[in-house]
Amino acid sequence: MTRLFQSIEHLKSVSKTRYKVYQKIGVLTPYDLLYYLPRAYKDYREPVAAADAVPDMQNVVKVTVTEKKRPVMTSRGMQIFRADSVDDDGTELGIVIFNQRFTFMTLETGKSYIMYGKIVFNSTENRLNIQNPQLLKDMENPIEAIYPQTTGLTSPMVRTNIKECLQILDELSFETLPSEIRDRFGLMALPKALHAIHQPETLEQIDEAKHRLAFEELLRLQLGLYLLKIRAEKKTEYPMQKTDMQPFFDSLPFSLTSAQEKAVREIVSDMAGTSPMNRLLQGDVGSGKTAVAAAACYFCARNGCQSVLMAPTEILAEQHYKTLTGFLEGLGISVTLLTGSLTAKQKKTAYAAIADGSVQVIVGTHAVFQKAVEYQKLGLVITDEQHRFGVAQRNALARKGGAPHKLVMSATPIPRTLALMVYGDLEVSVLNVMPNGRLPVQTFAVTGKLRQRAMNFLIQELEKKHQAYIVCPAIDENQDSDSELKAVTAYAEQAKQSVLKNWNLAVLHGQMSAQEKEETMKKFHQHEIDVLVCTTVVEVGVDVPNATVMLIEDAERFGLSQLHQLRGRVGRSSLQSYCILITEHATEEARERLKLLSSTTDGFQVAEADLKLRGPGDFFGSMQHGLPPLKLAKLTDTKMLHDVQEAAQFLILSDPNLQKPEHHALYTDIFYLFSKYGLNELD
Ligand code: ADP
Ligand code: MG
Repeated sequence: MTRLFQSIEHLKSVSKTRYKVYQKIGVLTPYDLLYYLPRAYKDYREPVAAADAVPDMQNVVKVTVTEKKRPVMTSRGMQIFRADSVDDDGTELGIVIFNQRFTFMTLETGKSYIMYGKIVFNSTENRLNIQNPQLLKDMENPIEAIYPQTTGLTSPMVRTNIKECLQILDELSFETLPSEIRDRFGLMALPKALHAIHQPETLEQIDEAKHRLAFEELLRLQLGLYLLKIRAEKKTEYPMQKTDMQPFFDSLPFSLTSAQEKAVREIVSDMAGTSPMNRLLQGDVGSGKTAVAAAACYFCARNGCQSVLMAPTEILAEQHYKTLTGFLEGLGISVTLLTGSLTAKQKKTAYAAIADGSVQVIVGTHAVFQKAVEYQKLGLVITDEQHRFGVAQRNALARKGGAPHKLVMSATPIPRTLALMVYGDLEVSVLNVMPNGRLPVQTFAVTGKLRQRAMNFLIQELEKKHQAYIVCPAIDENQDSDSELKAVTAYAEQAKQSVLKNWNLAVLHGQMSAQEKEETMKKFHQHEIDVLVCTTVVEVGVDVPNATVMLIEDAERFGLSQLHQLRGRVGRSSLQSYCILITEHATEEARERLKLLSSTTDGFQVAEADLKLRGPGDFFGSMQHGLPPLKLAKLTDTKMLHDVQEAAQFLILSDPNLQKPEHHALYTDIFYLFSKYGLNELD
């Protein structure tokens, strides 16, 4: 079996040069090569009669060579080989080959060949010619696999290399799925599937093979996550007792919604248990997840343990730091901030306080799980907007302490099946009630013609002493940060000199230093700034309740979920808020999308529509989960997801660690793939 997982250097058909090319595209072993899938197929099985060939296009014909001519050398040194042929209907077809002596030599008078090449009409000769044909000599693979285009790697090269890998596969009779599973769900054997996908005999076979491989992809992902989870699962090192939460509730400036209360109860009950909590707190933007997180930190501190709250951006960490300080310091719980942009001295002070336990709550960015940080007693790890962190990072943090409790907060309404897939087996608390007195954000989609009116409306809000955001997209499609910067600064300059000259404007974008961003946000919070002209850096989590207008330029360039997130920056108090979507060149389809956003403020509906429009690949990809990518499986295929779950359960029940000999191949397969993506904890 090891032959499949050792370097492709050892393959006879792989030269040093080619080995380097493969390395560049991440194909390291025969196993990788077998999963390097064709992007298309060329079907040679149906030759056309020469008379029916489409002129000036590639065609497949079957002809018999009648005469080979003497080669001609042109003045520029090109060799031209010619032959005459005739097809089964008696149509004459000239064969013209430039330079490729070998092809010409292969042809024998009186023999038939299936050829693939461009067919042109030569008016001087008054007949059809086929130019530089490829010969399908022995019809070994009548349907040919075409591989993704890469410099230094042609499809014929890949086919040769894969042929050798398939031989190895056959010799080993490698099979990852036990026969019970294959029978139960009607799946092809693995060698058969891989043969069919690379060297198909029929088109139907390809579909069947894809089905089997997609199933395996999902199963592998699910089992891999499950194995990661049981490896991580220990008993909690610091058992916690139920404590009186009332002092915390009393210190809040508001009373919790029923949904928040329920979530707190669930969290407290998990944390008072013996095994580590693994819970997802799902709530739409503005549903009040931070207060729930604070409650968990309070509980943890009362039990003499430390909590970490990790945010994806510095702005957000900064803001959480302020919120938690407000909620907790009055109760004698000390909170500290830990981000990359602290000075060395500040970091040192923070590290010392974390190590000696004088600080109980640590709020920060990735900086919180750096090597230098040593916790005294880490009891709880909370990650906000989880989809921005990879699984590897999450696990790195979890390893810092003795099996801490984990709480994941997300505003992305992930369908249940998907959540299971990405997070493994976790419990879910949902904040499905908005804090009292919230009015739904009124959303309008307008064309650029109405920009002036939209601006007037925005100014009316400013006159009421409210604040506003204006979001500009990058000029470039590929979101290059320079163009993003240009768009924002140019926009702000122009607005400052014209429509908004009486107001305080500031810009906020990703290229500012953390300190500049922080200062700007502070000023916006304190209402020293009326209008913030920004990029999507404000998309996640920013909380300024006095802001009531979100104006988005070129709104058609954003995804629906992203627009929903941006809209969530307003409507965060009892004030009526507005979201204005301006489109300059919206297509009919784009206008439909924006209309949907105007008609609902329900994040789940928005996410579902987004999923339908953009497809799950995108959705899954944008979650930046750091998991092996899915090449074939479709997350919209609920039937398959369901079957895979059943199969996974069946396997786990019969062999919880997948250590039985009959599961050895499957285990190796999962282990190999997860290690490749840096998830080495399966060791
Ligand atoms: P999100 O779930 O989007 O992270 P936040 O935690 O930022 O939401 O809360 C949004 C706003 O609602 C904050 O200003 C917060 O102080 C406020 N808030 C949270 N819970 C309540 C509540 N129960 N009643 C009133 N306001 C609340
Ligand atoms: Mg939040």
